[in-house]
Amino acid sequence: MFIGDGGDAIAGAEIHVVEERITYVGSSEAAPPVPASTVTIDANNGTILPGLVEAHFHPTYFNVAALEDLDIKYPVEYVTLLAAANCKLALECGYTAARSGGSLFNIDVWLKKAINEDVVVGPRLAANGREICGVGGLMDWNPDFRKIGMEGLVLLINGPEEARAAVRKLVKDGVEWVKTYPTGDAAAPDANDHHTLCMTFEEMHAVVETAHNHNLKVTGHCRATEGIKNALLAGYDSLEHGTFMDRETMDLLLERDVPVVPALYFEKASIDNGPAFNMPQAVIDGHQETLDGGAESARWILREGGRIGLGGDYGFAWNPHGDYAKELTFFVDFVGFTVPEVVKCATKTGAEIMGLADEIGTLEVGKLADILVVNADITQDISAIEDQANITAVMQGGIIKAGTMLTAAS
Ligand SMILES: [Zn+2]
Repeated sequence: MFIGDGGDAIAGAEIHVVEERITYVGSSEAAPPVPASTVTIDANNGTILPGLVEAHFHPTYFNVAALEDLDIKYPVEYVTLLAAANCKLALECGYTAARSGGSLFNIDVWLKKAINEDVVVGPRLAANGREICGVGGLMDWNPDFRKIGMEGLVLLINGPEEARAAVRKLVKDGVEWVKTYPTGDAAAPDANDHHTLCMTFEEMHAVVETAHNHNLKVTGHCRATEGIKNALLAGYDSLEHGTFMDRETMDLLLERDVPVVPALYFEKASIDNGPAFNMPQAVIDGHQETLDGGAESARWILREGGRIGLGGDYGFAWNPHGDYAKELTFFVDFVGFTVPEVVKCATKTGAEIMGLADEIGTLEVGKLADILVVNADITQDISAIEDQANITAVMQGGIIKAGTMLTAAS
């Protein structure tokens, strides 16, 4: 059993749940007796761990092969249905909570309500709604002649006044997080590559000031060193990617204890699978540079005592929904984290990012029973968690919502 705090797995352990909360965690020998009517799950020498937290989740990204498909292929009605299916899938993969990294229209806000009210199943969501990007930046990809704007995906801004107006709209929409685009990405090598800035410091500061005033948190797609520095100085609450770091940005990051979600497996998937989707070589080369820089930064952040959350930008054709746990394997095999470190990043730190550290993220008495039972010893092979056939039970708030024991029973 992993507690989720970075400690090694505990052998011969058990966990008790009464209604929605954990009442005992520890050795089986010391466990108190339970009523005869208790339902028991035998982990079968497998692994018990906290429910996973996907810290950069795009429920409305429907495995697109072309970026512009995101905002023009389907109407909002159908994207909503696809997003609900993605939420169900994430839960079945062991993810009991997820922070949205941006959503088409305001779908994730309403999905969160639907999940909380048991209308659909899915991870506990922190909603984000539309993303914010500077005009001409990474997300402003529709040419003006199409006259279709970017209504569903992003709020495009010019200057601090428009940045404030965009955040005020999101406040009304009911989001918890504001996702911004301080920098470009390998996906746009011509005008918005990953060393390009897509928002000014003044715009970013206006976003943070307005968001914090209304108790919203701010994050951003930050690859270029200057963009990371701007985000930290502006008061961002987390960083997505944090790709190219220098000593100055590292010191700022540590001083402010800002968590980073690298989303690195996306880069590997883009390099490996991109050619099959006609990804240009310049884009693939950029992803390689991002992968190398991002892995180095992730290792450095961990070594310096910073916080890393795991999430993977799943929802592209080359990196589809359902592959979420590949992020964990990748951080062990390629980036070089230990299994306990990866479990902590994917549980405790994820809960901290969501602002739910008192309720979920570790297996502790009094917390909500969000628990994953895997029919394999993940200390030996963490990739076992990628296969739904190995997921015995996914418990959320004390209720088994997915897993082989449920499908077998039905
Ligand atoms: Zn993303």
